[in-house]
Amino acid sequence: MSVPILLYHQIAVPPPKPMPFRSMFVHPRNFAQQMAWLKRLGYQGLSLKDATPYICGEKHGKVVAITFDDGFANVIETAAPILKQCGFTATNFIVADEIGGSNTWDQPLGVVHTACMGREQLRRWMELGHEIGSHTLNHVRLDRMNANEARRQITESREKLQSVFGTSIVSFAYPYGEQSPHHRTMVREAGYAWAVTTERRSANAHDDPAGLPRKTVRRSDTALHFLKKVLTK
Ligand SMILES: [Zn+2]
Repeated sequence: MSVPILLYHQIAVPPPKPMPFRSMFVHPRNFAQQMAWLKRLGYQGLSLKDATPYICGEKHGKVVAITFDDGFANVIETAAPILKQCGFTATNFIVADEIGGSNTWDQPLGVVHTACMGREQLRRWMELGHEIGSHTLNHVRLDRMNANEARRQITESREKLQSVFGTSIVSFAYPYGEQSPHHRTMVREAGYAWAVTTERRSANAHDDPAGLPRKTVRRSDTALHFLKKVLTK
């Protein structure tokens, strides 16, 4: 069975042109429509952790995994109530050194300052049944650093999230989708069970658990674009 793993970043009104990465904003109205479509079509939206038995073929059903990268505060403010209404769960991949901080990695590129969830918001996120995963300590480009630093970013971010929240962290998302077989090994050795990339297709039982594909949902996606992402392999 193939399971689409959707990737969102910010659920907020997109800023005016010109701004890089505007496509990473999905309007709350569009997000609500997309979740309603899933519901209408009989899909269950699940966190990555909850969706993995379906990806592995241990469970069967109409399932879509819902993931958010970067831990933005607008996700708990805007997306969480919509997810709750639909009875869906989701995963948010957290930049471990930016808890209560902001998108410092994006700002030099001209992206508008956006707050990341603080500890209380992340606790609330998990209380709602959602998962948190790691997205490194500093949202680094793993491809551009030496092996020791890449390993530190992968390993210490998991340890930090586990010690702050007292929960086991099993999921990881590669920043910018950048990874190599080398990084996948580090992810496994760090103790993660699952890691996601940005390869654009649905996930299935033949995929490497340390390199699952995902489909990005963008600002300009129409209902038709969205449905195509859900319904195709
Ligand atoms: Zn990211």
